[in-house]
Amino acid sequence: MLTLTYEYKLVPTAQQVEVIEHTLTVCRSVWNYALRSRKDWLNSRKSPVHACSLEKEYIIPADAPFPNYHHQAQQLTEAKKTNPILKSVNAQVLQQILRRLDRAFTDMQSKRLGFPRFKNQYRMRSFVYPQMLKDCLQGNQIKLPQLGWMKFRKSRDIPEGFRVKQARIIRRASGYFIALSLQLDVKVPQPFPRGHPRGLDLGFDKFVATSDGEKINRPRFLKTLQRKLKLLQRRLKKKQKGSRNRHKLNQKIARLHQRISDTRKDWHVKLARYLCEGAGMIFVEDINLISWQRGMLSKHSADAGFGQFVTILQWMCWKQDVYFATVNKDGTSQECPECGTQTGKKTLDIRVHSCPECGYVTSRDVAAARVIRNRGISAALNLKLSEVGQILDLKENAWGDGLAGACRDKACLVSTLPSQESQKQENLIVRLGISR
Ligand SMILES: [Zn+2]
Repeated sequence: MLTLTYEYKLVPTAQQVEVIEHTLTVCRSVWNYALRSRKDWLNSRKSPVHACSLEKEYIIPADAPFPNYHHQAQQLTEAKKTNPILKSVNAQVLQQILRRLDRAFTDMQSKRLGFPRFKNQYRMRSFVYPQMLKDCLQGNQIKLPQLGWMKFRKSRDIPEGFRVKQARIIRRASGYFIALSLQLDVKVPQPFPRGHPRGLDLGFDKFVATSDGEKINRPRFLKTLQRKLKLLQRRLKKKQKGSRNRHKLNQKIARLHQRISDTRKDWHVKLARYLCEGAGMIFVEDINLISWQRGMLSKHSADAGFGQFVTILQWMCWKQDVYFATVNKDGTSQECPECGTQTGKKTLDIRVHSCPECGYVTSRDVAAARVIRNRGISAALNLKLSEVGQILDLKENAWGDGLAGACRDKACLVSTLPSQESQKQENLIVRLGISR
């Protein structure tokens, strides 16, 4: 099964905007109610039996089951019989809200994310129609439950043969959008490891360093926009709370946030395409992005958006038939990529890797990227690290016959010659500001 998500800007009528806003409000109250009942249940089990607090205590019968998804969905159906407001919104949309809450709870445990939060009117931003009709699309119009036919800006065509499975309506500072998830019933084989290997080291100093010796800086335009944002936020303090001017300024800030995130995403897509070009396999270190975001460098990391970039890169690799894998990140900066010697811990201010054993000197980030590449090849082709070094050496010094058996077969899969650079790639290089 192949699933794609296409996003379009909606052009709703005033009446449709009203319905969307109403749906969001009801969704918010369902979310908050469901979260409250879950929290109450958890709180009621927190106090030890022999030591109740003096002030207040949650009293929920001991045999009351935990309000899980099924329980809450049942409650919702019950409540709809007496509550006309709940009834005014599509039933499946509300059920999806409960499902989203349920997922937030499981993610909290499995992915170590934070506890789900109550939402105010700005925080509830989207809802989903989980089932769409077969003929819901006509030209630049889409038929949605309750909303009827709605126009959208058809910025690109929906690919042949795909069926609209779900539709998510999203409110942003720049208007309303619809994200269609499209499905096609085919099996797509995963790319297998072959061709030119490329290791990537993500970092704060440079955004990406590759094992081919390229370093890609963070783009400057984001910094400029960031500065603009700061200026506006400073101005916000002087505005009176609840005033019209403050509201206007807030809108302006929201639009700027939107622009920053759009620009960043666009850059990530372009960079991912650039990195895929000429590569047959791409390896990235397996970093725990959440712990990075909580750490000392949190602001930089959130700004750089590594998580989004890795997701986009993975998708781009799949699209361009490039093998993608993550490798163990431990000590990538402490190892010599040429001879495998442990060079010991480097502090962040040491920017150069120079090996005392083999005398290999290169920049720190590139060395780390090369270690990542070697580890990646060794995992993907099931080779020892020393054999990886042999293969790469032979490839660089033209073809040799020094390898035996299986090792030689695998060597045929690896090529270190990058493909010829096209004009398109040159253009990308200019736009990305890559220093070689
Ligand atoms: Zn060395």
